[in-house]
Amino acid sequence: MQIKDKEFEIYLTSQVIQDRIKGLADQINIDYQGKRPLMIAVLNGAFMFAADLMKSLSGEVEISFVKIASYQATQSTGKLDHLLGLQENVKDRDIILIEDIVDTGLTMSELITNILAQKPASLAVATLLWKKEALQKPMKLQYVGFEIPNKFVVGYGLDYDGLGRNLADIYQLKE
Ligand code: 5GP
Repeated sequence: MQIKDKEFEIYLTSQVIQDRIKGLADQINIDYQGKRPLMIAVLNGAFMFAADLMKSLSGEVEISFVKIASYQATQSTGKLDHLLGLQENVKDRDIILIEDIVDTGLTMSELITNILAQKPASLAVATLLWKKEALQKPMKLQYVGFEIPNKFVVGYGLDYDGLGRNLADIYQLKE
């Protein structure tokens, strides 16, 4: 499949993604039983994952969306600009950060620092994809959908230069 100047091939089908998200949600439902977690999803990429995950969560749960800018085209800049849009009070809340993908981990580690400074009761991370071998900052990721190789992916919320977010499957850059 072609997006702009690049060729992509199917990597994770919609069915595989949905099944895995159900598994993550089951685990979150167990871990947060009797609690009222506040999910904080990172836009734009995590919107589909956040929506599908939310649908499989039972019990009381809230969601909020934040926006940061740290990625251009196919190269991570590793710079977290600032956090936009968080209106909820994080203090004493059980927070679950929702990300589409952790690559170098620089974005997530700055996000974690930012949220921890606001003194939540607890903080966990749920990421659909994890490029384990690209990680530059060690961190604990409590809920990981798929560990993937260090190759550029698009689809299911993830874009290549603004395109491809609408795809239900995830595609990998063809080499
Ligand atoms: P990190 O700071 O961990 O290097 O990068 C995190 C952000 O970079 C993700 O939230 C995502 O927006 C973007 N990113 C990292 N790897 C990929 C990839 O393979 N494909 C796309 N579309 N975005 C990526």
